[in-house]
Amino acid sequence: MSIEINNVTKRYADYTALDNISLSVETGELIALLGPSGCGKTTLLRIIAGLETADAGNVILEERDTTNLPAREKNVGFVFQHYALFRRLNVFENVAFGLRVRPSASRPSKSEIRDRVGHLLQLVQMEWALNRYPSQLSGGQRQRVALARALAVNPKVLLLDEPFSALDAKVRQELRRWLRKLHDDIHVTSIFVTHDQEEALELADRIVVINKGRIEQQGPPQEVYDHPANAFVYNFIGNVNVFRGRIRNGKVVVGEHPIDARHTIDGHEDKEGHAFIRPHEIGISRIRSGPGDLVGIIRDIRLMGGQIGLELETPLFDKPIEAEIPRETWRNLQLSKDEEVFITLDKVKVFTGDYSI
Ligand code: ATP
Repeated sequence: MSIEINNVTKRYADYTALDNISLSVETGELIALLGPSGCGKTTLLRIIAGLETADAGNVILEERDTTNLPAREKNVGFVFQHYALFRRLNVFENVAFGLRVRPSASRPSKSEIRDRVGHLLQLVQMEWALNRYPSQLSGGQRQRVALARALAVNPKVLLLDEPFSALDAKVRQELRRWLRKLHDDIHVTSIFVTHDQEEALELADRIVVINKGRIEQQGPPQEVYDHPANAFVYNFIGNVNVFRGRIRNGKVVVGEHPIDARHTIDGHEDKEGHAFIRPHEIGISRIRSGPGDLVGIIRDIRLMGGQIGLELETPLFDKPIEAEIPRETWRNLQLSKDEEVFITLDKVKVFTGDYSI
């Protein structure tokens, strides 16, 4: 089922939680709504679900205006942050619940319910836990049962509100890979709310970055990561070094040091700006590669999986520069703490004007 959100605004007293949001979701897409705490993600999800009403705008589900329909008439499945399983019902009964409470005319037979629940529990790899109660399951297992329960009523749309946020990092990572595979199998149109950029980048077909009730950017994860539309998105998605400077003669001048950023300054001259560069975009060498190179001292070396993180002190900035280089480069350069290196920043991207998170 496709979803069209048109000019949705929601205010709480004089606070605007959603400010004229429009968004289209195609049938079968998995979308991540990503943004800092309080930016309006949950409010938008609740409006789509029919758990909250919009002050303006409308929500079209498969060409039908559902703006004022209550949740029970929308055929959406919902999985919340905290495992909302019924404590007194076992796993089977939890998943069967939505089918059993249907009016008798549309309620499946007992054997149909048993088959459907069995199939769903297989899908979420929980068939072995049929008779267990929620208190006898781990957090990750409970969320998988919650997902099976949401899918039981065959929803046209699945809405997930930070479903893994109460779980530890390792389980979260496993579950999001598992959810991605599950989505590839069942293709239900899904919107996933998260404030975790890694989760959004890994899981979604498209990410929608929200800030202060507005959409800042949307697109495939790689595109948003590689080409952030503005300073907010750059800062919010991925690690980044930020330098304040002034744009002059096609360069960004930080202190008195001109950084050559010719590919990314779009005709802004003599303006204040912020230069952004991701740690892995920083070049590190033992010999000067160009006049724009900075000299820095390695103050810290950190092992980060396949990469090596370097903390570099330069006379130009009061904050250290964070760089990441492949382990092999680190080995070839034979770098150690307190050594001097040349730092290349020519991949900086510059945005003029103020920016704030
Ligand atoms: P988080 O990641 O922390 O869950 P969020 O992006 O999901 O945040 P929302 O829950 O959508 O944020 O809230 C958006 C804003 O609206 C917040 O500033 C919140 O305080 C406010 N808000 C939400 N619900 C209400 C309410 N019922 N009454 C008043 N203000 C509310």
